[in-house]
Amino acid sequence: MLMSDAPGFPCPSCKAPISTTLQSLFSGRIYCSNCKLELRLEEKASREALTAAHRLDDSIQKAEAMKADALDLNHVQPKAPERSRSRPRRP
Ligand SMILES: [Zn+2]
Repeated sequence: MLMSDAPGFPCPSCKAPISTTLQSLFSGRIYCSNCKLELRLEEKASREALTAAHRLDDSIQKAEAMKADALDLNHVQPKAPERSRSRPRRP
């Protein structure tokens, strides 16, 4: 049996792998792409997990933004070569 690394779970109806994204989890509705079965998340039961996922997603987005900023900053302001700033010491 081939197991995929993609996040998800087997469809309770047809056993086809249903891939879940954070967005689909947040929307509370997941569809099986194979048999079109609609799955609904129980909000109360999954709230804790969703909150954690939400925070994780938020953190990832912030981290990505920070990373983009850092890369952009490095690109705009390249580090000056050390040779031009520091002179060789004289004895
Ligand atoms: Zn299915």
